[in-house]
This record gives sequence, C-alpha cells and structure tokens, in this order.
Amino acid sequence: MEDRMSEKTGKNDQVSRQPMPEQKAEIRKRNFEEVPFGYNEELALKEAERCLECKKPSCMNGCPVSVNIPDFIKLIKERKFTQSIRKIWERNALPAVCGRVCPQESQCEGQCVLGKKGAPVAIGNLERYVADLERNSGKGELPPKAKPTGKKVAVVGSGPSGLTVAGDLILKGHDVTIFEAFHKPGGVLVYGIPQFRLPKEIVFSEVNFLERLGVKLEANVVVGRTVELDELFDQGYNAVYLGVGAGLPKFLNVPGENLIGIYSANEYLTRSNLMKAYLFPEYDTPIVKGKNVAVFGAGNVAMDSARTAMRLGADTVRIVYRRSRDEMPARAAEIHHAEEEGIEFSLLTAPLRFTGDEKGRVTGVECLRMELGEPDASGRRSPVPVEGSKFRLDCDLSVIAVGSGANPILTRSTEGLGLTKWGYIIADTETGKTTRKGVWAGGDIVTGSATVILAMGAGRAASDSMHKYLTLGW
Ligand code: FAD
Ligand code: SF4
Repeated sequence: MEDRMSEKTGKNDQVSRQPMPEQKAEIRKRNFEEVPFGYNEELALKEAERCLECKKPSCMNGCPVSVNIPDFIKLIKERKFTQSIRKIWERNALPAVCGRVCPQESQCEGQCVLGKKGAPVAIGNLERYVADLERNSGKGELPPKAKPTGKKVAVVGSGPSGLTVAGDLILKGHDVTIFEAFHKPGGVLVYGIPQFRLPKEIVFSEVNFLERLGVKLEANVVVGRTVELDELFDQGYNAVYLGVGAGLPKFLNVPGENLIGIYSANEYLTRSNLMKAYLFPEYDTPIVKGKNVAVFGAGNVAMDSARTAMRLGADTVRIVYRRSRDEMPARAAEIHHAEEEGIEFSLLTAPLRFTGDEKGRVTGVECLRMELGEPDASGRRSPVPVEGSKFRLDCDLSVIAVGSGANPILTRSTEGLGLTKWGYIIADTETGKTTRKGVWAGGDIVTGSATVILAMGAGRAASDSMHKYLTLGW
C-alpha cells in the first residue's frame, strides 16, 4: 500500500470523495422520489481514481459477500463498465440494491485504508453507478445456465435471501419456484424500505431478471397455512429453502398502545410502500396522516417511518429513543438525511404510557428522561430512568419501530424444525442446513433482523450446500 501511495503521490490523497448529488432537503421532504440522483460518468471516474488498488484490500474483508472491490473499481477507471458489473455479479446478485442500502460505513467502506486519514472510497456509490448503468442501458443479456438437473427446489419467501438462492440454483440447472405470502415479491425491499430510498422498479427489475432465467413465482401463498411445508415434498420438491424473514412487530408494552393512531412500523410502512397509501386516492389504502408524529426507535426502520410521516404532510416528526446518539443503530446516511429533513430527536427518552381522547385517538405520550448506566449484554450502555423527570409529548400519530421477531406461522406448523427460544430457525452457519433433511434456512429468520447483504450471504452459502445435496446427497 505504501508503495502505491508513493507511485501515485498526491493524486489519490488530493482528490476528495465525490459528493453524491441529491434532492434538496426542503423539496424532497414532501415527495417520495429517490433522494440521491446517483453519480454521472464524470463523478464515477473521479471517485474510482481515488482507489489505491491495495495489494491486500481490507475493504473486501468488510464486505459480507467479498465483492472484488479493487477489481470492479479498476474496471470503472478503464471505462469497462460491463466488465465491472460482471465482476460484481460474481459475488452479489443485487448490486443496485446493496449500493443503496448496505451500511457501508460499518462494512466495506469502514475498512478502506483511505478512511484512516480522510474519507473512504465511495464503494457503495460506485457499485450503484455500474448497476444502474447496466439496468438502464445494458443489453440485458442472460448469463449461461447449466443443463436441467430434473430437481425441483421450493424457495419460501422472496426477500433478498430467497432471491439469492433462486438466482444461484436456476443457473445450476435446477427447477426453482418461489412461494411468497404477499401479492408482490421482494420482501422488506418492497414492503419495508420506502421508495425514496430504494425505488421499487429496481427490485422488480431484479425479480424480472430471475423470471427471465426461468424462476417461477407463486404469490399470495402462505407456506404453513395455504400449503404445508410437508406438502411441498409431496408435490415433488426435492429441497426447500426458508427465507421468511423476521416481520413480526415488537411493541413497547406500555398502557394505551392500542389507541387509534398508533401503528407498528411494519403496518405503517407496508401500508405506505406496498399498498401505496402515499398515492391515495389513486391507490385505495387509508393511512393516518398525523400532524404531530412520535416515532419510537432509532434504527433504519424508525428513520424510514419518520421520513415517511414527514412526506405524508406532518408538521413535526420526532424520533424518541431511550439511549444516546452514539447507540443509534441506523445507517449514518439515514440519520444525516433525516436531520436535514427536519426530523427532531428526543434522545435518552423512554415512554411510560400513551394518552387518548374520548374517541379513543392518541393525543400524547408521557415519557421519562434516561441516563446511560453500565453496558448490557449487547455491550451498549443501558438506559436508566432519571427520577422525577416525567414529561409529556403531544402527538396525533405514533409509530413503534423498536424491532421485530420471528413470525411463527410456518415454524409452528412444521414438525421437526429446530427453533431457538426466540422462535428463530436453527441452521448451520456454514451451510444453512436446518435440523430437517432437505430443508435449509437463512436471512433474518435465522439471525434475527440484520441486513440485506447478510441475508444474501446466507442465501449464497445455502445454495452451494443445496446444490451439493441435489447432485451428491445430504
Ligand atoms: P425479508 O426481506 O423479510 O423477506 C421475507 C419474505 O418472506 C417476505 O416477502 C415475506 O412476505 C415472506 N414470507 C414470510 N412468511 C412467509 C410464509 N409463511 N410463506 C411465504 N412467504 C412468507 N438492511 C440493510 O442492509 N440496509 C437498510 O437500509 C435496511 N433498512 C431496512 C428498513 C426497514 C423498514 C426494514 C424492515 C428492514 C431494513 N433492513 C435494512 C433489514 C433488511 O431489509 C433485512 O435484513 C432483509 O430484508 C432480510 O432479508 P430476508 O430475505 O431474510 O427476509
Ligand atoms: Fe460494500 Fe455492500 Fe457492495 Fe459489499 S455488497 S461492497 S458491503 S456496498
């Protein structure tokens, strides 16, 4: 690395990180259009030039699926954009998605050596650039497929982990069908993450790519209810992948939580994103449009809920979080964007109870101030109530975004599937094998709520193991 620095003296450390062009906060906070516009060729080339092409690229250690980052960036420098996207596809089937939503600061960019002294290479922005270029102007060529093996695979759930498994196994010659409970595929990418962060056209284009490869999609099928897991084997499926996510909302469990105008983030975002309530009356989905909104939690889900409420016309939107800013789990970019859009933050604040009017509508929430005590099991300092600090916040809409758990519909109705005490499926971390022969699992239903790229990484590991099973045996 030292050598490369001296070879390129001045060049790399003089060019600063190219900022992402984006909609102005004042305008975007009232529309659902995507916030960043993406790099143009000039910006992408300038940013790519910053990469030092380290001999031992630590950025790759930070990427859960080991995208060959220096190689794809070098191909951008050489204007070989098609080769560049092919290089990314070798490890990552959804680069337009990951370039937008990966928490790069704690993954690839967090390990970039340039970050030690200044700003790391904008790896996510570059990944997004080549992926968008291919989608908008590429030839849409399909990769070669292996000869049919005659084996049938059922993938349950069409989130990033299920889509990864489907894409890998169809290329290996297996006959793949995805079963999805909702009417549209994509999992959280479609029902959770809002349009202004991840346009749905991108997800549908990735799904369309899989369909063109021959993957079949059966929507509106809840496995464990519409059809049992065992029936899939009776129908001739040789192997099953469970990528059903962790979409069961958690609540605060404080009095008044069932008042009108209090949503789980899951319901609020599903109404807005999947059911397109933000386009009401064009789409016939009602949603409470609060003027004074309190969102509980400080992860990506909370930021998405707060920014959605602002776009639906709120006057004030407040994130209420019981720890401090340092512990907020959301991506740095989302916190930054939320602040720019005027979202307020009530940190070190915990709810005690909601209050309502005579019609049962929420009117406010009583809270307590907190201070940080000793670290808990997660290593984060625990919030401790400050005595006598009770105060009230007014709100006419509240969204609870304090995490989610395993949905029991499939797991409870399936015999022989080992579960953790929290209801997540027990699966081998290397292979995704569950305790049932012929059944694999991965993504949030195994790890609990995590990230898109980790769910995809789990899908990749499972598809390798499933392919071995389908061709060589368990
Ligand atoms: P999911 O994406 O949850 O997909 C599971 C699918 O299975 C769903 O479509 C569901 O309908 C279907 N399903 C469930 N049960 C059944 C059944 N019985 N039969 C048939 N189908 C079933 N991660 C990031 O990396 N960056 C972010 O910025 C980010 N933001 C997020 C914002 C929100 C609002 C949320 C909720 C999550 C966010 N995440 C983010 C986390 C990330 O989206 C998840 O970790 C990831 O989607 C998990 O993928 P998965 O494939 O395991 O499950
Ligand atoms: Fe970084 Fe995510 Fe791309 Fe890996 S997939 S290089 S972590 S943006």
